[in-house]
Amino acid sequence: MVQSLNNQHQEVRDEVAKLCQKFPGAYWRELDREMKYPKEFVDALTEAGYLSALIPEEYGGVGLPLSGAAAILEEIQMQGCNGGACHAQMYIMGALLRHGSDAQKAQYLPKIASGEMRLQAFGVTEPSSGTDTTSIKTFARREGDHYVVNGQKVWTSRAEYSDLMLLLARTTPKDQVTKRTDGLSVFIVDMIQAKADGMSIKPIRTMMNHSSTEVFFDNVKVPAENLIGEEGKGFRYILSGMNAERILIATECVGDAKWFIEKATNYAREREVFGRPIGQNQGVQFPIAKAYANMRAAELMVQRACDLFEAGENCGEEANMAKMLAADAAWEAANACVQTHGGFGFAEEYDVERKFRETRLYQVAPISTNLILSYLSEHVLGLPRSY
Ligand SMILES: Cc1cc2nc3c(=O)[nH]c(=O)nc-3n(C[C@H](O)[C@H](O)[C@H](O)COP(=O)(O)OP(=O)(O)OC[C@H]3O[C@@H](n4cnc5c(N)ncnc54)[C@H](O)[C@@H]3O)c2cc1C
Repeated sequence: MVQSLNNQHQEVRDEVAKLCQKFPGAYWRELDREMKYPKEFVDALTEAGYLSALIPEEYGGVGLPLSGAAAILEEIQMQGCNGGACHAQMYIMGALLRHGSDAQKAQYLPKIASGEMRLQAFGVTEPSSGTDTTSIKTFARREGDHYVVNGQKVWTSRAEYSDLMLLLARTTPKDQVTKRTDGLSVFIVDMIQAKADGMSIKPIRTMMNHSSTEVFFDNVKVPAENLIGEEGKGFRYILSGMNAERILIATECVGDAKWFIEKATNYAREREVFGRPIGQNQGVQFPIAKAYANMRAAELMVQRACDLFEAGENCGEEANMAKMLAADAAWEAANACVQTHGGFGFAEEYDVERKFRETRLYQVAPISTNLILSYLSEHVLGLPRSY
């Protein structure tokens, strides 16, 4: 068995593992072929309460600390399933929880906790601005008791399977603010109302099954009461949730790495060529062993970031490093796993090629490796700002 750093939340891990066993490789392969949403899997996680892990008990959630949510997501990936279909339901609501009004929290959180409403679409990225978030063009213009939204988002994952979207839009043009991070606001958008009022969604076919879309806003009215916190302060609200998101994605990557390492090790033990197991050759052993060492190192950083987060301390540096190191470890393990399987690494029925495609995403999203390196260079090492 691939070692784990700790046995925190072991009971939760065991239960998640049991649930995941009902969704074997064949289930994911079929969905992957048809680019279909894993509804049954997401429903099962919702019914078991896992997606409400971070919602406080007073709103009907399970009220686990971040490490509890991390254990759930890591276990899902370790079992060969894919939490990417719903992981955002766990953490997007953080903006609402931290910055929403009492009325907004009472209106939405219990329904999100029960699964009656899905809040798992996060509209930030736009085609013309990409990583440069403060240059987004989607604009929300105040008109009486509502805002009128115009613009376009890209890569909005799960938009077709979400009842609500957390939307970042400009409310003051960039050239009229002193700081470029000002003048951005966050809204909670009711997708059903918005679709009836000019919002349209276009799926993007991608190299893996991730339900990503383009979302177009054409004079869509959003009630003013759906503004979260103060107008113009939205960028800060989005940033405040990013450490949790990075830590959770990092744990998914650690889970992926463990899956690849276990799969590669088992295959290397069983597959015989030249009259002996391929795993007897050090040329086969070493890439797997190296991937294992890097996974364990990444896991330590994830744990450190999680501990700091739970202690309420600043964990920006550690959360970013955890995300980068874990994404790298998963990708290294994925490569070693494909190589160990030889030709069969490319065959659909082994699930290796599917997981290989899935784990590649985390070098780019939700934040790319370069942007993490840039953060470390500027904010940790004190090097001159590059952009
Ligand atoms: C499958 C998928 C799902 C996603 N889901 C969501 C979602 O739900 N919601 C959402 O809002 N977004 C989502 N994203 C968007 C994702 O966050 C962005 O793709 C990512 O932040 C990079 O932005 P970009 O694609 O515009 O790349 P660009 O900004 O165009 O960058 C392209 C490349 O250039 C590099 N680069 C850019 N600027 C610099 C610089 N100054 N220094 C060094 N390198 C630089 C980047 O690192 C990157 O490798 C998703 C993306 C994918 C692929």
